[in-house]
Amino acid sequence: MADTWRRSSITIMSENTSPSSGIGRAVELTQELRKLQESVELLDQSLIQDNVLKLQEQVTRISTKLKETLSKISGPSRANGSDPGLSVDEARGTHPKSEPTAHAARPKVEKMSAEVVDSNPYSRLMALQRMGIVKDYERIRSKTVAVVGMGGVGSVATEMLTRCGVGGLLMYDYDKVELANMNRLFFRPEQCGMTKTDAAAQTLSGINPDVKLESYTMNITTVEGFDRFKRSLTQEDGETSRVDLVLSCVDNYEARITINQVCLELNQTWMESGVSEDAVSGHIQLLVPGGCACFQCVPPLVVASGIDESTLKREGVCAASLPTTMGIIAGLLVQNVLKYLLDFGVVGRYLGYNSLKDFFPTMDIKPNPGCVNSLCVKRQALYKELMSSPVALAAAAAKAAAEAELEATAPVHEENEWGIEVEADVVGAVGQSAAGGNSGPAHNGLSTCSGVAGQSLAEGLQFSMPESSGIDEAKLKAEGIGELDAGVNDLMAQLAALSG
Ligand SMILES: [Zn+2]
Repeated sequence: MADTWRRSSITIMSENTSPSSGIGRAVELTQELRKLQESVELLDQSLIQDNVLKLQEQVTRISTKLKETLSKISGPSRANGSDPGLSVDEARGTHPKSEPTAHAARPKVEKMSAEVVDSNPYSRLMALQRMGIVKDYERIRSKTVAVVGMGGVGSVATEMLTRCGVGGLLMYDYDKVELANMNRLFFRPEQCGMTKTDAAAQTLSGINPDVKLESYTMNITTVEGFDRFKRSLTQEDGETSRVDLVLSCVDNYEARITINQVCLELNQTWMESGVSEDAVSGHIQLLVPGGCACFQCVPPLVVASGIDESTLKREGVCAASLPTTMGIIAGLLVQNVLKYLLDFGVVGRYLGYNSLKDFFPTMDIKPNPGCVNSLCVKRQALYKELMSSPVALAAAAAKAAAEAELEATAPVHEENEWGIEVEADVVGAVGQSAAGGNSGPAHNGLSTCSGVAGQSLAEGLQFSMPESSGIDEAKLKAEGIGELDAGVNDLMAQLAALSG
């Protein structure tokens, strides 16, 4: 297959465009195009992402040549390709309504430029440097991100990262695109039946051919899937991660536990995201092995929606989903990714979203020294050691100083010409007013936990206790997490007051 393609492309590369060749040349080009198109159709999709990109570039080049030839031989009256016998779309062997990416494809860009011209796909991103937000935006091209789960959050996250010009994307999912997914962003009806990873690769390569895409159509929760997933993330030594960040955009506990375990083994930082089954709340969370709570340190936290939980999570109940909530969570997630990768602003540890109350609780979840995962406990010791080294202490001091400076230089609006007043509600007011416009790096004035034992949850957060989690209350008590119960009950009472 690949040979066929190469032969066709060589013929085309050696073309000789003499204005005198006229219609004969145009017909020849048309035939070459048809051959190319046939080769594309014959090739297996998963094998040919790179080839398709090259083909698209060639098709664009050839159609430009065709247009030139046509305008030369037909004069000004036919310059728009109005000859029904040889329209550009037909010459390409594609139906005019077909895949628009071939039209939109652009050549790869070697180096990100800050030049302000309409043809520069990166000018608005590079402007972040000029504005003093990011020191070196182009560093994003050296970053690789793995996105596990290409649903309503993951697919949108990959599109955002692609448009931001990330260097590489590894995409994981085992599902196919269905019509039932069309209430969300990203996938299109004509992609139904394709695997989500292939459909995503098709769309994303058209948007930005500079991003190196890798699709993995697989289930990571099987024994074989676990090994394949880990191998795909590692360098040749089998122990060192080759990605800068892993994003969990999955919808089940088992997949999150798998990602947690692989990331602990590879000492790989990851970010978790989730949207509630009632589609009105969600969260993102940062997990640095040893430095933050792992997914097994404390029961997973979710944002309380105030809706009766007994109506949710029943067997056979179809989960709701909204493109709005999923898009917001994807946006919050990728914003945190950009801050983490490009080292600006404050990288949030836990950020929740309750759409019913316009409420964004934040929290810092410390690792649990009594975590059920022994590897996590080991990572915690290593992390402590690493953080107490002189280099790390100096770096931490510099970072704290930079954050303090950022806070000091944040605009203080002493004049209030619009007469806006912030009214304190009884519950949740701190988070609400803070989320409304606090530009400082402070944690929105919300309480943060000071260790697992005795920690209090930020307002609006509650533990999610999936049946399959195997979390045993007696075990939690034995590990000093018993006091959490009081906090949750307290929280539930507050929530009841809030929704009542
Ligand atoms: Zn842990």
